[in-house]
Amino acid sequence: MRCRKCGQRAAINMRHHRLSLCSTHFKEWLIDQTQRFIEKYQMFTPSDRLLVAVSGGKDSLSLWDILWRLGYQTVGLYIDLGINGGIHYSARSRQCALQFAEERGLELDIYDLRSEIGRDLPDLADENRRGKEKPCSTCGLVKRYVMNRSAMKQGYDALVTAHNLDDEAAILLANTLDWSLEHLSRGLPVMPAGAGFAKKVKPFCRISERESAAYSILRGIEYMEDECPYSAGSKQLFFKHHLNEWEDEMPGVKLRFYKNYLKAMEAGAFPARQDSAEILSLQQCGVCGQPTTADGLCVFCRMTARK
Ligand code: SF4
Ligand code: ZN
Ligand code: ZN
Repeated sequence: MRCRKCGQRAAINMRHHRLSLCSTHFKEWLIDQTQRFIEKYQMFTPSDRLLVAVSGGKDSLSLWDILWRLGYQTVGLYIDLGINGGIHYSARSRQCALQFAEERGLELDIYDLRSEIGRDLPDLADENRRGKEKPCSTCGLVKRYVMNRSAMKQGYDALVTAHNLDDEAAILLANTLDWSLEHLSRGLPVMPAGAGFAKKVKPFCRISERESAAYSILRGIEYMEDECPYSAGSKQLFFKHHLNEWEDEMPGVKLRFYKNYLKAMEAGAFPARQDSAEILSLQQCGVCGQPTTADGLCVFCRMTARK
């Protein structure tokens, strides 16, 4: 297999794009693609200050590297959840994020759950019924809360997450099987700011997991290769697995599924989310000031206050 641009040996063959590229041209191509989607979906401009959520994994570090190379103003946010799972998962992920930032002279904010609330995620999840089986629902809540609060408090123009095409297609499949109109209306690459929520953008929404992994390897980025120990058996992995099987048989099926969803949204297939505080009946949490549908304290403050 040869690179379509220079005829050298290809480093990657992307069947869904019918495109093979060498290492140099693939890296250039991925950077161009990312910039194209940033513009196409009007995510942000060079004058915006961006908070990039980084987990230490391949997707978030590849994305941060590309945004940095494109000259965007970025600060990273790493949330240390204190997950060990026998592999020192959080500590090692944190180290990958720190090393990445240091090598490029980038600023990384670290939110350390134990220092902030006195316990790690698995303990917090144990205290809550949500975490009875796996801590994932507590984890999702904590991450969404911390990301939004950090972005709002420090006045960032957008919160950037590294959800890739595989993530988006898997979530879309799950929401379609459930016909969850509420969630289907929220699957866009850009969620505007409103009612106390920061603008959220996903520049990798059309970049596959394989492409972002190839980018980090070819770029020599040291990322956390192990998955979170709690991810085994998750619904999302189940859907990803099946989508990959379909992709093998029908290259491009994932991308078409997601792109046609975006077209359907444009055509008004699902009601766009209304984000005004009145419509969502939102109030401000009495402790942290974040938006909440509950009276008094938000879920995070109630959960973390409990002993
Ligand atoms: Fe959190 Fe993901 Fe790990 Fe679940 S699998 S605990 S959501 S990082
Ligand atoms: Zn080439
Ligand atoms: Zn609160």
